[in-house]
Amino acid sequence: ERMVSAEAQHEEENLENQLRPQLLNQYIGQDKVKNNLKVFIEAAKIRNEALDHVLLYGPPGLGKTTLATIIAHEMGVQIKTTSGPAIERPGDLAAILTALEPGDVLFIDEIHRLNRVVEEVLYPAMEDFCLDIVIGKGPTARSVRLDLPPFTLVGATTRAGLLSSPLRDRFGVLSRLDYYTNEDLKKIVTRTAEIYEVELEDEASVELARRSRGTPRIANRLLRRVRDFAQVQGNSYIDYKLAIDALDRLQVDKLGLDHIDHKLLKGIIEKFRGGPVGLDTIAATIGEESHTLEDVYEPYLLQIGFLQRTPRGRMVTYKVYEHFQMEVPE
Ligand code: ATP
Repeated sequence: ERMVSAEAQHEEENLENQLRPQLLNQYIGQDKVKNNLKVFIEAAKIRNEALDHVLLYGPPGLGKTTLATIIAHEMGVQIKTTSGPAIERPGDLAAILTALEPGDVLFIDEIHRLNRVVEEVLYPAMEDFCLDIVIGKGPTARSVRLDLPPFTLVGATTRAGLLSSPLRDRFGVLSRLDYYTNEDLKKIVTRTAEIYEVELEDEASVELARRSRGTPRIANRLLRRVRDFAQVQGNSYIDYKLAIDALDRLQVDKLGLDHIDHKLLKGIIEKFRGGPVGLDTIAATIGEESHTLEDVYEPYLLQIGFLQRTPRGRMVTYKVYEHFQMEVPE
């Protein structure tokens, strides 16, 4: 079973790579971030320099990896991709950095998960493009300085606040990605449908956009699942009714909330009288990891005003009772 799911995940990643826009003007939405980057890229190219280090932050699936690859494309350089937890020792980072070509983009996903020792090697690399390496042990140990080619570090994290301030301060560009509007998501699913060569009724794309919780990755995934339903039924055309039926069967409700959102919200109502309740407590009662709830589920529920954060924990708002057609308590 694990083999199958690993394969499925790999396949999902491949499908995602296929869909990645390559250039800034193909990247839909996030206009503020895009327009700023356009200027910074242009300026770096005029000066014939590497682009300043860029920190991208925001909830998962909003297009951070995509933007990193676009930056490399626009700059006409290579991109090397890694992640915070994958770099265990300073030597791992040194190996990556010394293999870079001048101007290359180094993309570190989940950069907040770098360990302290590795992080400290990164400081001089980012600031002065050099590495301080200690050779030998004990009294004969000495430090050697290695020059690196100029490069651009693109870091991605779900929240900028998770980074230590010395690391955060070394980024010249900090860009926050926000949830997408329904109009932008509609453009994204329409584009994806064209790539997949499936026909999608306009109203079906509106509904897919509405149920994607502001997130392109979810929009594309829902489209793939709806396409599965269509194909099994021998349909090559996805109309509104087919989309609605498929989305209902996928247990994605009108606001894009899935069974985990439901479990979370109903758990707070049924077990804690609507809150306030600490995130760890609620995570334990519904059997989910608290950091998954915090990074993946909660931000959207906060955004649509379903959850509130108080000093004493999370509370549901009247909107949740209305959504579930429950009586709003006093
Ligand atoms: P994570 O941090 O969880 O890896 P991410 O923020 O890096 O997520 P991506 O992997 O870049 O997200 O994007 C997810 C999918 O959404 C990709 O397949 C990408 O093609 C699509 N996508 C993201 N942003 C856009 C956009 N602005 N326009 C078109 N497609 C997009």
